[in-house]
This record gives sequence, structure tokens and C-alpha cells, in this order.
Amino acid sequence: QRRSLGRLREVPAVTRDGCRIHLNANMELPAEIDATLAAGAEGVGLLRSEFLFMNRDDLPDEDEQVELMRPVVEAMDGRPVTVRTLDAGGDKLGSLVGGRISPNPALGLRAIRLSLAHVDLFEAQLAAILRVGAYGPVRILLPMIGTPEELVQARRIMDQVVRRLHRKRVPLPDPLPPLGVMIEVPGAALAADALAYHADFFAIGTNDLTQYTLAIDRSDDTVAHLYNPLHPAVLRLIQFSCEAAHRAGIPVSVCGEMAGDPRLTPLLLGLGFRELSMSSTNIPRVKHRIRQIGLHDAARRAMAIMSEWDAARIGALLDDYNAALA
Ligand code: PEP
Ligand code: MG
Repeated sequence: QRRSLGRLREVPAVTRDGCRIHLNANMELPAEIDATLAAGAEGVGLLRSEFLFMNRDDLPDEDEQVELMRPVVEAMDGRPVTVRTLDAGGDKLGSLVGGRISPNPALGLRAIRLSLAHVDLFEAQLAAILRVGAYGPVRILLPMIGTPEELVQARRIMDQVVRRLHRKRVPLPDPLPPLGVMIEVPGAALAADALAYHADFFAIGTNDLTQYTLAIDRSDDTVAHLYNPLHPAVLRLIQFSCEAAHRAGIPVSVCGEMAGDPRLTPLLLGLGFRELSMSSTNIPRVKHRIRQIGLHDAARRAMAIMSEWDAARIGALLDDYNAALA
């Protein structure tokens, strides 16, 4: 099994009926680049940028951020790297950003909210990502977007940063990197059609989308048994977001844990996803499953699953389908 998974690196992720599926890697640290390349990832679908800020007593300046991200972009050698701007709050950054700790960090001043409240920090990060785009294609991804207005504000700030860099004659990628949003807050999923009007791409973060939809703290063991991405409410939000992206003609991927679970691959393909991003260790198993799936069949099965309202029944239907594939 292990040897055959290894050989999968050489074969493309295509369904039985010949549709190409794009498999990208999620990364938290530049040190993961070797595993990303070894797994045959076609790009980095999610580079969590918190590593730039961790284990230090000061904020990294623009130049430092460029140098820390540059090895990842260079190693990907022309394949796109999707850099997500800071997805943390005062609980992680403490006194560096004014120190007040939200009573409930998951719902507090974090991610894009923190970036819009500390524009200097956000500008430095955007400038660094734009500059690292000189070494290979990058995309910019905003975490925890709740409203189109946040994206509009972020784009305005990015435009200002671009003008400043142009004035200083800093080489920038042409065209400029796409600016996309995480769909991981239920309100964003429900307003996905409005967001798709302003966004260049969507990345669906099923970890937080599940947490916020079901009101279950993903870090709390005492409620872990209630955390279920197959809850029909979560699936409907995912489906609606995917369809909104397709209607608007923008790329959409799934980058939460669901994307790396081969049991869920037939459902995600059946819902219309053609791009998934996952921890690189999961790429071979997901690719193996993709090569067993026929899209027509997957769409028909997904429709049946989406008409169910019981998560256990949904899981059973999915298991039946997977058993028929294997
Ligand atoms: C998610 O929420 O699904 C996601 C991919 O982001 P993170 O796990 O970093 O919150
Ligand atoms: Mg998230």
C-alpha cells in the first residue's frame, strides 16, 4: 500500500472520466516545503503566515517577511503559492498589538479584523507578499472575512500599498496577485454571492465553518464528539458557496481538513469542487480516491446526500459510496 501510494506521485489526479482535479498543499512552516514537493503538490493552496509572527518579541518588518517567505515561493518553482494574511488575535500576539485579550478569542479581534484595526501591520504584510511575488506566482488570501465591506476595505489598502511600491520603483508582479477570501464564517457563506462579486477566488475553510455553524469550539475536547462537518447545515453552506463561485466564474477550493479526508472526496467532487488543498501527507490517498470516481456518479450521489437531514444517515450514504468505489 505504502509503495503504491508513493508511485501515485507520478500519476495525475484525474477522475475515471478524465476530469483533472488540482491538488494543492497546506503549509504552516517553510520547513514543510520538502514534503510538499515530495507529495507532488501542484501549488500551495494555503500558506498559514502565523509562523512569521511566532516565537519572537517584536513584529517582523516588511523585508524580514519577504526573506522568510521567499524560499517557499522559489522552491515551488512557478507553481502558485497562496499566502493567507495573519489569522491570529491578541491572545497569540499579546502586547505586540496592544495586548487586550478578547473574552472570547474565537469571536474577537482576530484575523482580518485585527489587520483592519492595525493597518500598519497589514500594510507591511501585504507589501511583503506583493514583493515576494517577484520570485514566483502568489495569491493573497484573507482569513475570517464576514462581510463584503471587509474585503473592499482590504482591497483599498492593498491598492495604496501597490501605489507606494510603484513610487519606490519596487518590482511587482504583473498582473498583480489575485485577492481572495476564506469562506469560514457562516455569514460569509450565506453572502457568498455578494462576496463573489468582489473576490478573485474563494477558499472554503471547513474547520472554522463547522465550528462557527454548529457553535462548537474546535479546541474544546468536551464538545469534540459534536463536531461534525457532515451536519447538513455545514454541507449546505459549502454547497451554496461553491455554486456562488461557479456562477461568478471565480476559482473555488476547499482547504479545511475535509479536503484531506479521502472518505469525503467523492462528496466534494460531487458538489462541484475541482481544486482541493490539504496537508501534503494526505495528497496520495486523496489522489488514489479521485482516480476511482466518475463525476456523473459523484454528482448523482451528492444530490441524494444533500437531500438528507440526518448527519449519521449522510455518513452511511457516503460509506456505501466509498465501499462501491474501492
Ligand atoms: C479552516 O478554518 O478550515 C482553515 C483552513 O483554516 P485554519 O485551520 O487555519 O483555521
Ligand atoms: Mg480557519
